[in-house]
This record gives sequence, structure tokens and C-alpha cells, in this order.
Amino acid sequence: MAMLEIEGLNAWYGASHVLHGISLAIAPGEIVALVGRNGAGKTTTIRSAMGLMPKATGSVRFAGTELLALPAHARFRMGLAYVPEDRRIVPGLSVRENLQLGLVATDGSIDERRAIDEIAESFPRLKERLDQEGVTLSGGEQQMLAIARAMIAKPKMILLDEPSEGIMPVLVEEMGTLFRRLRDTGVTLLLVEQNVEWALRLADHAVIIDQGEVVHRSTAAALLADKAMQDRYCAV
Ligand code: ATP
Repeated sequence: MAMLEIEGLNAWYGASHVLHGISLAIAPGEIVALVGRNGAGKTTTIRSAMGLMPKATGSVRFAGTELLALPAHARFRMGLAYVPEDRRIVPGLSVRENLQLGLVATDGSIDERRAIDEIAESFPRLKERLDQEGVTLSGGEQQMLAIARAMIAKPKMILLDEPSEGIMPVLVEEMGTLFRRLRDTGVTLLLVEQNVEWALRLADHAVIIDQGEVVHRSTAAALLADKAMQDRYCAV
């Protein structure tokens, strides 16, 4: 059974109809890269999966359960997490407090102190800065914090919107290593990326969206080798 299965998804911003029947399926424990040019509908697709669009129709199933009628927090409790493009690190809160926010919507069964200790082991740069204000971190460290906050409640799947954007190469490489490690522990990842080559090297499968429709599905390796397809649909 697919971890996430989207079928015939349509979505609107007000009267503007931006997704036109998106279908895609992601198997448990794989990384899928969702690519396409600016405005193609990638962010809207993951916002729809998370329950953050004002109007969406079709089907979004998570581990077999239909999500479309459920609010975002219910989807989160089922094990679906989201790292938005703008990271949403809360000003005035320390790194530790920002991490604690990742536990607020859980059912209370997670030991907070232990969860923070554990997550800090995976993010040495955060471990050294737990008591520093989150927004004083570098852009890349803030992105790591946003990812750590999404991971702290041990989701089954994480939707990531352009995690590598504006981040220095050494941290992008670290992030790639982290994502591979997450996959190895069985976490499923959907990665929206403009850094197409990097995403395709990481991913198992790839999906291209253009003008609100899926125009290509293949293994990531096949798309990596197909420069013409990348140029046609992914050129900025
Ligand atoms: P980007 O990489 O630029 O974020 P994207 O592929 O993620 O591109 P979306 O952000 O999903 O694209 O946008 C899909 C379409 O919806 C675009 O035509 C965009 O202009 C439109 N859109 C996005 N956000 C809004 C909004 N808040 N209100 C109205 N239209 C929007």
C-alpha cells in the first residue's frame, strides 16, 4: 500500500483553479522529488496533502486513510509532517523552545526532554545552540531547525518545500546525508525542489508538475539522465 496516494486532486485559491487532477503515489520509505518550474503547483500540491488549502477536491490517502476532510492537525497526528518554505522559526524563542513546538500538537505521550536530547544528537549544530534564539541562526541552521522540529514527533512522512533554497553547499550536503539516513529508518519523504540535480540524486522516484498537472513520472535516475525533459519542464 502507498504511504501517500493522491488521486484526481484539484485545488483553488479563491476563483483561481491551480491544480487540475494531480495523481501520484509514494511508497513507504522512499524519497520522491516533486519538481517543475516556478508557479507549476508544487507548493499547492503539498499544502493540499497537509490540509492547508481553502478548497481542494479529489482524494489524498495516507497509509490507506482518506485525509481530504481532515484538518491539518489531525493529519499531523496521523504521522504526516510539513516543513514550509519559509521555515517559520518563531522569534523570541530559543532553539529548544522552537523544537518543543514540534510536540505541541501531539497526544502528550512523548517525553519532551528525551525527544530533544535525541534530536540534538542528529543535529550537532543545533545541539551547540539549544539556548540561543532560533532566529539568530544562519539560514541553513534555521532550515535544519525547521526539519528537526518536524522530525521530533517521529512522523511517518515529511513533506518538505524547497529545503535547500538559499543554503550554503556544505549544509545542503549535510541535509542530503540526513535525508538518506531518515529514509534508511523507514521515513517517507516528499521533496519539492528547485535544486533539481541534487533532489534527483537523493530521490528514488521523480514527478514533474507543469501548469497544475503531472506531466512526467519516472525513477529519479531516469530523469537525471534526461536533460531534455529537465530543460523542458524544470528550467527556471
Ligand atoms: P514556486 O516554486 O514558485 O513556489 P510552485 O510550483 O510551488 O512554485 P505554487 O506556489 O503551488 O507553485 O503556485 C501554483 C499557482 O498558484 C501559481 O499560478 C501561483 O501564482 C498561484 N498561487 C500560489 N499562491 C497563491 C495565493 N496565495 N493566492 C493566489 N494564487 C496563488
